[in-house]
Amino acid sequence: MKPHPKIRKVAKWAAAMFSSLLVLLWAGSAWWETGWYRDSGLNFYVHAGKLRGSAYDTEHLWDGRGEWYIERADRRFEWWFDVNPNGGMWNVGIPLWLFALPALLGTAAAFRLDTLAGVRARGAKCSHCGYDRSATPAKANCPECGTPKNRSRPNE
Ligand SMILES: [Zn+2]
Repeated sequence: MKPHPKIRKVAKWAAAMFSSLLVLLWAGSAWWETGWYRDSGLNFYVHAGKLRGSAYDTEHLWDGRGEWYIERADRRFEWWFDVNPNGGMWNVGIPLWLFALPALLGTAAAFRLDTLAGVRARGAKCSHCGYDRSATPAKANCPECGTPKNRSRPNE
């Protein structure tokens, strides 16, 4: 079954919102750093173009309640991964564009699908008089006005 046109529209705008947020987060991380800070265990934060996870003590990852923080970034923007195993302290940076890029591609695909579906829906109607041709053979002239097969239909 084909997805309902409404769902396609909602999906494409939801995808657009989601990828915009990711791009904003990525770009914003050049100036601002935000994350979840725990004294001893696992920390997650976004800064300098990356999502970072670090653990000072790998034995007690979930210890400590931690808290959200946001502050001015003090690191230079980076584009690529980094991994720093440092004794018991792990520190892994994953570039945020790695998340933003597939989201943007997915958004482009969602918009393309919606556009194609629109073209198909119009293709089922006569381009001249709007007669519903869905029961008419593709090569036949319009039974209403005699216009030769639909010119707006792709690949024909
Ligand atoms: Zn017609």
